[in-house]
This record gives sequence, structure tokens and C-alpha cells, in this order.
Amino acid sequence: MPLPYLLLDHLRVNYQAAGHVHTAVRDVSLSLARGEIGCLLGPSGCGKTTVLRAVCGFEPLAGGRIVLDGHEVANAQSSEPPERRQVGVVFQDYALFPHLDVARNIGFGLGRMARGERQARVERLAERVGLAGALKQYPHELSGGQQQRVALARALAPAPALLLLDEPFSNLDLDLRERLAVDVREIIRESGATAILVTHDQHEAFAMADRIGVMHAGAIAQWSPARELWRMPANRAVAEFIGRGALIPGTFRGSVDGGGISVELGELAVSPMLADKLLRNAAKDTYPVNVDVLLRADDIAHDPASPFEGTLVRRAFRGADQLYTLRLASGREVIARVDSELTHAAGERVGLRLTVEHPVAFAARVAGV
Ligand code: ADP
Ligand code: MG
Repeated sequence: MPLPYLLLDHLRVNYQAAGHVHTAVRDVSLSLARGEIGCLLGPSGCGKTTVLRAVCGFEPLAGGRIVLDGHEVANAQSSEPPERRQVGVVFQDYALFPHLDVARNIGFGLGRMARGERQARVERLAERVGLAGALKQYPHELSGGQQQRVALARALAPAPALLLLDEPFSNLDLDLRERLAVDVREIIRESGATAILVTHDQHEAFAMADRIGVMHAGAIAQWSPARELWRMPANRAVAEFIGRGALIPGTFRGSVDGGGISVELGELAVSPMLADKLLRNAAKDTYPVNVDVLLRADDIAHDPASPFEGTLVRRAFRGADQLYTLRLASGREVIARVDSELTHAAGERVGLRLTVEHPVAFAARVAGV
């Protein structure tokens, strides 16, 4: 395996707060190949910004090390200064210079470049982010999305080896966010930079990143390619955080060669890999194995001919489809994505069929633990 371009190896970062030590980052490890886009995804306060600050060189490490392009830039004893790390940053609030026009904002980090060369580079970047016509405008004359693009162009101008983006879309409207996320991904790809994005929004994470780390309380719970995180969340915390779903109790019967899980909405086929995991994690001497199965909106379809059903609690129309929240006989609630033509009323019974392709399940916790 080639050496990673960026390696964060068991990072630990402390803050001194009111006389005592607060550990904001406990244990963060990840690696990215050159040109990959990684994402740290987690709720507010879990330590995402602190990781970025440590990678920039703004926070010292209490433990672990940062290796950039084969060179150890920081450990608990020593740290290379930020200006030597060639890192570009897009801050959450963009931090544009209000008294400089777009051209001078973008060119800010190019002070040492010859004038003509600098101008050409600024124009090329403005073009790339779709702001070629706005070079003489000032930040307050721009929309939020345009300001975001200026911040991105400014960060990319010195051709950083590593680009860090701290919740870059959090100040934008939802539909703009989705479009920009795709554009920004393309722009970063073209630049060739390796990038880390941090966000609390999983749609952004999936739209942008090759690899995603789900962060919780200063540590990464799982660092995986985006698709794998969706298909095989490593634990309950990750499963519940990724993709609104419900964990429904079920019973596994089978062997390490595979088997099936029955839940109150029907039967699910289980692959040998999942069967093996469930059997290894099962409470001692219990068979069949009690499990919890993750059911997401795409795992449940409307089917009037099905013997299984749920009672409609509420519906959320989304245009192309709608989300039904349904109460099962046990009282548990699940969400199903259904055709936008359906017109059931709250309280009505709705036929349901499981359409799970890759079941996600965990051996149940032993009662009382
Ligand atoms: P996130 O970006 O995921 O919201 P942060 O990295 O900003 O999280 O913060 C992680 C934790 O560290 C939080 O508990 C926060 O209150 C604390 N923290 C952040 N910055 C400082 C600071 N300068 N001094 C003391 N505590 C801080
Ligand atoms: Mg933050």
C-alpha cells in the first residue's frame, strides 16, 4: 500500500479552560491518499474544528503525530509553524477582507508572485469558481454563495498541498448547499489538492467526500469509504447517526454460512459475513440470537398486497416522493419512502414490504447492561 499523503495518528488536543485541562480531541486517526477528499462528520462540539486547527498548526498536540507527504510536521514535542505547512483553509464564516475587492481577496496569499503572473492566476481562479465577472466587487455586494466561492478561490490561490474546509456551506440555503457541494468537489478535484472537510451535515459529507469519519466526543467512531459507511456502519452510534433509520428488534437463525432475521415486518436474508458477526457478538449461549436491525426509509416499500402493515402517523411530502412515518403493532415507528401519488390519511393502515438489500444488524445488548 502506498504511503498516505496525510496521516493523523492518534491525535490528542487539550485546551486549558478555567484552570483545568479540557481534552477536545481524544483519539483521531485517519489517512488520505494524495488528491482524496476526506470528511469529519459529527455533531457540534465533537472536536472537528480543533482537528483542523491542529492540522494547520494553530493548536499544539498533546499526543499523536501529523505526517504530511512523508514528513512529520507535528508531534507532542515539536511543531512546524503554520506557514511552512502549505495548508489552505476555508473558514466557516469565510473571513473575507471587507475592504478588499474580490480580485484582491483571491490574490491575498500571492504577495511574492510577479504582478502579471498574480493577475493571471487570480483571473483563472475567479473563472474556475464562476466569479469572472465579479472581480471588482466587494464582499458585502455578494451573495452568501458567491462569498463562499471567493473564500474557496483565495484558499486555492497559493496551490496548497492540503485544503481544509470548516463547515463551508453552513451559512447557505439548503438547495444552494447541495449544488455548491457538487461544484466545490469538482473544483477541488481539478486543483489536485488533498482536502479535509468538516461538517455536521451528512448530505454534504456524502456529496463531497471519498472517505468519511464519524466523530463523537473527540474520537472517530469509524473511518471508511463513503459507500462502506452507509452499507456497513461499524456500530450503533454510527448507524443511528447516518441516514435517519430505526433500530428494530429481530431474531437471527442460521450459522456462519448465513441465515435469516425475522422482524415484525417480515424476513431478511443474512450474508455469511453478517451472520458471522452476529454469532460472535451474541450474548453467551443464546440461540436464536436477539438482534437489532437498522431499517431506513429506502428499506420499506408500500405494498397493498403485503400481510404486514403499519399505521400512518404522519407524512412529509418531498416533491418526487414522500416520507411516511408508520407505527408498527409493537408501537415502534419506522419511516418509509413512498410514491408521491399516495394519499393515505393519518391513522390509516398501510401495507408494507421489506426491500432491504444489505441488512445492517447488531447483536442485541444483554438486558440491564
Ligand atoms: P466542533 O467544531 O466539532 O463544533 P470544536 O473543535 O470547536 O468542535 O470544540 C470541541 C470542544 O472543545 C468543545 O467542547 C469546545 O467547547 C471546546 N473548545 C473549543 N475551542 C476551545 C478553546 N479555545 N478553549 C477551550 N475550549 C475550547
Ligand atoms: Mg466547528
